[in-house]
Amino acid sequence: MKLIKCTNCGEVFEEAVSPCKICGGVIELTISLTGIGAESSVGILGSVSETNRNNCKHIKYNAPSGAKSESSLSNSQLTGFVKSPIDIGRQGENRVATCIKNHLTKIGKHYHDAESHDDRGEDCALIIDNENVFIQIVTMKPSDGYWKSVAQGSGDIKLNLNEAASAIKSTISQKALRYQNRVNATNNMLLAIDIGHFGTLATNEFAKIYLDNYKDPAIEYNFGAVWLVGPTENNILRLGSSRW
Ligand SMILES: [Zn+2]
Repeated sequence: MKLIKCTNCGEVFEEAVSPCKICGGVIELTISLTGIGAESSVGILGSVSETNRNNCKHIKYNAPSGAKSESSLSNSQLTGFVKSPIDIGRQGENRVATCIKNHLTKIGKHYHDAESHDDRGEDCALIIDNENVFIQIVTMKPSDGYWKSVAQGSGDIKLNLNEAASAIKSTISQKALRYQNRVNATNNMLLAIDIGHFGTLATNEFAKIYLDNYKDPAIEYNFGAVWLVGPTENNILRLGSSRW
């Protein structure tokens, strides 16, 4: 369910375009996550609220797990926090896979589910436009010890986009290292980097910074695609070239 309203006067609109026509306030788009990640925790309704104003993008995410986070992208700085319970890794996989599927539908790709082999490191498998695609999911780590700190209560994040690009780059290269002796293993792999709690990073501005600093990750490491996957299908960044 989608709700678009002014954060100031509460007027409800059809389109999420700030400023509010009535009072000039900031318009907020809220999406209730009914289906996504419903298996991880029954009874909690997740929601994602997004606002854009004066070149500041802000996302407030109440995860179905009970975790809460906020992230902002402004003046080339990613700031925010994540509050426990920690819901990364296995717990996040269902949501990431759902976001990817919804995004494929959104961009007009046809897919259906395929059998995945966990022992081969496949978190999820799809057939996209008649091609077998394996999805491998990995969570962004903003800094060493970050998720440990979230597990103990909460973790703050403050990175400029060069630092964020460096964090994403090391996540990708660590993953690639695992497949370095299997030349064709990554051809049909969609590497999904879970940025569920840092959804504001899924912007063209970040992609540009990344690609100014580093090579196209799909080409450099021979992945089929590298996607950053935020809390919903509206917060997905296909980083560099993507076969899908
Ligand atoms: Zn208003």
